[in-house]
Amino acid sequence: MQPRLRVSLLAPFPDLAAQALDYGVTGRALGNGLWRWRGFGLHDHADDPRRSIDARPAAGGPGMVLAAAPLDRALAAARHWHGAAPHVVLLSPDGAPLTQARVREFSDRRDLAFVAGRYEGVDQRWVDANVDAIVSLGDYVLSGGELAAAVVVDACVRLLPGALGDADSALSESFADAQTARLDWPQYALADASAPLPPELTQGDHAAVHRWRLKEALRRTWCRRPDLLARAALSSVERSLVDEIALEFKASHGQPRSDAAG
Ligand code: SAM
Repeated sequence: MQPRLRVSLLAPFPDLAAQALDYGVTGRALGNGLWRWRGFGLHDHADDPRRSIDARPAAGGPGMVLAAAPLDRALAAARHWHGAAPHVVLLSPDGAPLTQARVREFSDRRDLAFVAGRYEGVDQRWVDANVDAIVSLGDYVLSGGELAAAVVVDACVRLLPGALGDADSALSESFADAQTARLDWPQYALADASAPLPPELTQGDHAAVHRWRLKEALRRTWCRRPDLLARAALSSVERSLVDEIALEFKASHGQPRSDAAG
């Protein structure tokens, strides 16, 4: 079977990501041939006896910078492995924050080459010449991009057709709907009898279950991520559920939420 996605990682320690991806959905999909993976360790592409991949920053200052030459050789090897020009994605805290929309865009491609930095980051001339997209996992700093790359690859692989045991899971989960961008509804295990279930989930009324789930997903979004609802294109049913949620909040707290989205 032809893999749907080929992913390479250029990094000082690519095995860090390989190990993380060897489990669960991503590991199973790899075993099933849905996607292929190859790490290109930068030390293997150094050309000095010490296998050095870094250099001191121009004009001085703290730390070291990943040098261009090993990255050039690793990228040439990765292009050869892909057999086509991959979309080159650098992991960096100065990139655009990763979103599910971006993940969907990446997972629609066939060839992705991720570049993970270490130290103070990657030589800017190399970035300017070779990188198509720069992605950040959030406003914090990791010591290396390998685990960040594993996160992005995990999110991409689970969207590949056939990767999830039940394809419907991906339709209802958080951020799945690009228009609404709502969070998932609360999940309850049928087997766990430690406390009663919400009655709507126990009566076998599919319409009631659907309404309850939609409302609780909107309630969770309204409470925890009002920024998502503020820019969502809600249907009239969703809008009236949000109005109900706001009224319920006011009734139980004696006042509207001060930053209420609607
Ligand atoms: N000097 C950089 C700065 O202040 O923005 C931090 C470099 S960091 C110590 C080393 C590498 O970790 C980066 O080149 C990048 O690949 C990775 N990294 C760190 N934080 C990250 C984040 N939030 N998202 C994605 N990658 C990150």
